[in-house]
Amino acid sequence: MKEYMNGMDCLHYINGEYVAPINGKTFENINPATEEVIGKVAEGGEEEVNMAVEAAKKAFNNGWKNTKLSERAAILRKVGDLILEKKQILSRLETFDTGKPLWLSSTVDIPRAAGSYHFYANFISAMGTDAYPMEVGAMNIVVRRPLGVVGMINPWNLPLLLLSAKLAPCLAMGNTVVLKPARWTPMTATLLGEIFKEAGLPDGVVNIVNGAGRSVGEAIAEHPDIRAIAFTGETSTGKNIMKTGAESLKRFSFELGGKNPNIIFADCDLDEVIETTLKSSFINQGAVCLCGSRIYVQRPIYEEFLTRFVARTREQIVGDPLESNTNIGALISKQHYERVLEYIQLAKEEGGNILTGGGKVEELKQGYYIQPTVIVGLDQNCRVSKEEIFGPVVTIHPFDTEEEVIELANDTHYGLSASVWTKDSHRALRVAHQIEAGTTWVNTWFLRDPRAPYGGEKQSGIGRQGGMFSLDFYSEVSNICIKY
Ligand code: NAD
Repeated sequence: MKEYMNGMDCLHYINGEYVAPINGKTFENINPATEEVIGKVAEGGEEEVNMAVEAAKKAFNNGWKNTKLSERAAILRKVGDLILEKKQILSRLETFDTGKPLWLSSTVDIPRAAGSYHFYANFISAMGTDAYPMEVGAMNIVVRRPLGVVGMINPWNLPLLLLSAKLAPCLAMGNTVVLKPARWTPMTATLLGEIFKEAGLPDGVVNIVNGAGRSVGEAIAEHPDIRAIAFTGETSTGKNIMKTGAESLKRFSFELGGKNPNIIFADCDLDEVIETTLKSSFINQGAVCLCGSRIYVQRPIYEEFLTRFVARTREQIVGDPLESNTNIGALISKQHYERVLEYIQLAKEEGGNILTGGGKVEELKQGYYIQPTVIVGLDQNCRVSKEEIFGPVVTIHPFDTEEEVIELANDTHYGLSASVWTKDSHRALRVAHQIEAGTTWVNTWFLRDPRAPYGGEKQSGIGRQGGMFSLDFYSEVSNICIKY
């Protein structure tokens, strides 16, 4: 267990074995909280992806596609149990890789990852199918078959959680997988290989290839024997993957970027709004795709909101992710840290007024720490108000009417999520219904039922995950029409 506490070297996991990189190349895994090298990661490429696809095809045809549902459910349940059993190790690995607070890894990332396997183990055990009788004396029966080999390409912000949200339904339907973790966060995915083995998943059903997007990611998107791609990441990367995958006419499930509005009406419960908005702004260093980074506040409470929100923001503790009182940890990489600082600089150039935060944390000499930053005075059309920053930075804007705020909220090419705060239930429904977002929360945020659809509108995604929506994506749905 000790080696996991200090990080580990991450190999590929292909056909049930940990394998070294074919070309012998590795890259360094850096803990963003300390800037220390915590391990080496196998640098994969097309050859490893080809090996992984061959293993996945073999595992699919040799039996996984025909495994009994009860057997698949039992394996998934065991995977979920093992993740919970190893929660302490996995949480630490996730924190070392990402820089996020350990309390967050251990209360959200890892338990929710386990939850996906438990949920789909139960869901497939209870599911039925549709039948459509015809008056002419025929019956249509809807059947689902697995697709075959599915490719998965993952981001760094919620590594094991997002991976598991895809893997659990995909495996539940009897598919096999070739997956690539984000370059910055290979550790929990690598350990998952061991967990799958222990849970009794046949070799080759899940294959993990580490490496860069431009090599491993593209090879997955390109491979003619991969039937579908489940991707979470930036909108621009999604567009590239779609172009590459178009050649073999893959199906795509895309969870992409967002610039999510929080709409706060004057009749809200302000105490609750302030506390939840703190979370939706800064949790995970602002790097949750569902974070509300554009905050619209109705004018009668605008000044009070600013005063109280800024005061609470100043109380947020930025620092060592291993300390239990840390609210905000380190950003994922030097590259991302510099990008977020550039956006803060741009906000100044665009005429924004920085009420608190605005730069790095001077006392913290090592690690990629940025103060939680609140910006006002920016026009809706500024780049900082429009583009996804994916850091602890929010902009706040006043508004007067319901119609005005709906227009402002929808004035973006993104459409992932939104939250609406009001005690007027008629207005809540009226506004929520008009917001162009895959998920709109009313008087809450980040509350998720695994049966409900999840995904983005416009350039925030394609398709929906959750419950049956995921199973539909990971299966070939066909109809058997029987004349009697
Ligand atoms: P990214 O797009 O840079 O990378 C995601 C993955 O794609 C990585 O594994 C990367 O190596 C790979 N990749 C990069 N270029 C590729 C290419 N040309 N071909 C194939 N693969 C390639 O995203 P990121 O920085 O890791 O994650 C942050 C982004 O993810 C944000 O935009 C965020 O909003 C989004 N996100 C969305 C959701 C959602 O549910 N909608 C959830 C989490 C994160």
